[in-house]
Amino acid sequence: MKRFLVTFSIVVILVVIVCSVGVELLGTSHVSSNPSQVAPPLPILMYHIISPWLPSFSDENRSLTVTPEDFSAQMTYLHDNGFTPITLKELNQIWQHKQSMPAKPIVLTFDDGDHGVYQYAYPILQKHGFHFVLFVITRWTTVHTAFYMEKADILDMLRSGLVEVGSHTRNHVNVLKAFPLRTLWEVCISRSDIRRLLNYDATSFCFPSGGHNKIAITALRICGYTMATTTAGGLVDVKQSHYLLKRIKIDGADRLQDFISKVTVPPGQ
Ligand SMILES: [Zn+2]
Repeated sequence: MKRFLVTFSIVVILVVIVCSVGVELLGTSHVSSNPSQVAPPLPILMYHIISPWLPSFSDENRSLTVTPEDFSAQMTYLHDNGFTPITLKELNQIWQHKQSMPAKPIVLTFDDGDHGVYQYAYPILQKHGFHFVLFVITRWTTVHTAFYMEKADILDMLRSGLVEVGSHTRNHVNVLKAFPLRTLWEVCISRSDIRRLLNYDATSFCFPSGGHNKIAITALRICGYTMATTTAGGLVDVKQSHYLLKRIKIDGADRLQDFISKVTVPPGQ
């Protein structure tokens, strides 16, 4: 039995590696087919925790935590200045010319499924009718904790039609530190979890801790994802790999002027 498992694992790993090379060669061949209609670059914002700061917070806690007041001011700025938050599913449709690009598009993403996103950010997003993307660690949606959203919270937001749910793996695994078979399993099982728990078809993925490799990208393709985000900083455009989308981190210490600088696409880009 043990020998069978080892052989099976090796075969799966070899298949993933071979597919990885093949898929990379096929890569982005469709992208340059219509250069005259290339959509302009846009920012994908990366948030983690939305919550009041506690006196005990470390610098890292403060960096990851945007207060509800700051978040509200940031969303008001986007609203008053004509931004249109879209989901990654919508961005994919736009990049495939199946949907038109709205004015000043921007993507708002929230990693990990922090409960404060439901408690504090969601009412603000709802007030503005903003679309957003929630990357959940699927194991944590099934247990009751003070820190993570539960299934009922996510289902409540899904009913609004504003949220896209994406995978952040089942156990928040950094694929750079995982065996290939574990990577394949985490990528695929979390998509199944989302379908089973939420009756929702997740097509976007977020690499935990930003770690990524070719094995993981191949696993994403095999398991049916179309987009994935990293923690690399910068704007995105259709010419980049859709599985290595850059983002712009919104830091809890950012003042409104910092936020404005981060969401402003320089002229000529
Ligand atoms: Zn994370």
